[in-house]
Amino acid sequence: MTVERTLSIIKPDATRRNLTGAINKCFEDAGLRFVAQKRIRLSAQQAEEFYAVHEERPFYGDLCAFMTSGPVVVQVLEGEDAIAKNREVMGATNPDDAADGTIRKQFAENVEANSVHGSDSAENAAIEIKFFFEDDEIVG
Ligand code: GDP
Repeated sequence: MTVERTLSIIKPDATRRNLTGAINKCFEDAGLRFVAQKRIRLSAQQAEEFYAVHEERPFYGDLCAFMTSGPVVVQVLEGEDAIAKNREVMGATNPDDAADGTIRKQFAENVEANSVHGSDSAENAAIEIKFFFEDDEIVG
């Protein structure tokens, strides 16, 4: 087991429904710790850059529009195996496929408005944390 950090985003569908606290409780109950957190509004350029890996996918335009449609909460989570644990607590991308008790099963509206983002690898976690946070904004 290694202590890791991962980037999490509470998406606009969840901030709109005032679910930030309920979602944060799921992470804390799973043993993950918030070491940085801020509520921001993504610019179109930030959303396009953050999801550039999906540029060729048919849903890219819709996804970027959705991610800029309201505030998001960007956060750094820390804990043992934080990257895998965060993905486990989030559940599958499509809430119809997500396991009972996961955030997406409980809260997601659909495959796009699925309430949370979480880094999918150590490499991407490092890139995504740097995308939103300066080193001195992360307090472990
Ligand atoms: P994740 O790692 O579970 O978030 O899933 P992906 O990296 O595959 O996709 C990134 C995000 O794109 C997802 O969280 C959804 O918000 C959105 N997305 C994924 N698949 C679809 C899809 O088939 N249709 C739409 N509209 N959005 C999708």
